[in-house]
Amino acid sequence: MGAPVKAKTRPGEYPRPFRFNGRVLELYLEKAFPGFRLSVELSVAEGETLALLGPSGSGKSTLLRLIAGLLRPDGGFVRFLGEDLTPLPPERRKVGFLFQDYALFPHLTVAENVAFGLLEARWPREAREARVRELLKRMELTPHARKRPQELSGGEQQRVALARALAPRPRLLLLDEPLGALDLRLREELLFFLRRTLKEEGVTALLVTHDQGEAFLLAHRVALMREGRLVQVGRPEEVYARPKDAWAARFLGHKN
Ligand code: ADP
Ligand code: MG
Repeated sequence: MGAPVKAKTRPGEYPRPFRFNGRVLELYLEKAFPGFRLSVELSVAEGETLALLGPSGSGKSTLLRLIAGLLRPDGGFVRFLGEDLTPLPPERRKVGFLFQDYALFPHLTVAENVAFGLLEARWPREAREARVRELLKRMELTPHARKRPQELSGGEQQRVALARALAPRPRLLLLDEPLGALDLRLREELLFFLRRTLKEEGVTALLVTHDQGEAFLLAHRVALMREGRLVQVGRPEEVYARPKDAWAARFLGHKN
């Protein structure tokens, strides 16, 4: 790979090679619940992983649900490559999800779970089978292809969920605390798969987490969210080194 064109990387800077090839996702969204108001403007570059960090109740899941179309905004828009997704139902947005409670289909095998979105999108059989094989291999699930989800460990089930979300090549992957339900060892294991997958598939992703370590390992940029608003968006090392205000500093665990 050639040297970066402009950005001079310094030691300690984010190690994943990445260039911002223009913004693919642009959004401005507003949503109010009793006692809560969300107002967020954000754009994300192609192939970028952006981590949303913030305390519980700050609106992270609400933002993902609005982007996915699972929730109607009071105002605003979601655009992908200039196309307005706002009027589209979730199934027509080409967005993949991975939530903490991965909700696999218990009556389907692992391979059938992964193939689910491909059937829905009417992929031809050969392409479907090849894609499922590729993902099972990448997630080291090939030996489990014919098992039911409940025969697998929690970590393996979450890998199935990740494969299922990625299978139809979503233009955007939304991850809501995907490691939240796992114990430490499994978190590390899935972190490894997530990291490798985000890179190899080159997918554009929004990752909600309350784990800074996870955000800083996986994300090109982090966004700090507080009470329905983005307080600061930037490269992990910048945000960490220069929190924008006292709240951000405290949230990031700085002493003063
Ligand atoms: P986070 O994911 O950051 O923990 P959420 O997006 O789940 O936060 O919630 C943000 C706020 O919106 C919270 O105050 C929550 O109680 C409220 N909220 C979320 N969903 C609904 C809903 N469907 N109806 C009413 N209030 C909601
Ligand atoms: Mg949440």
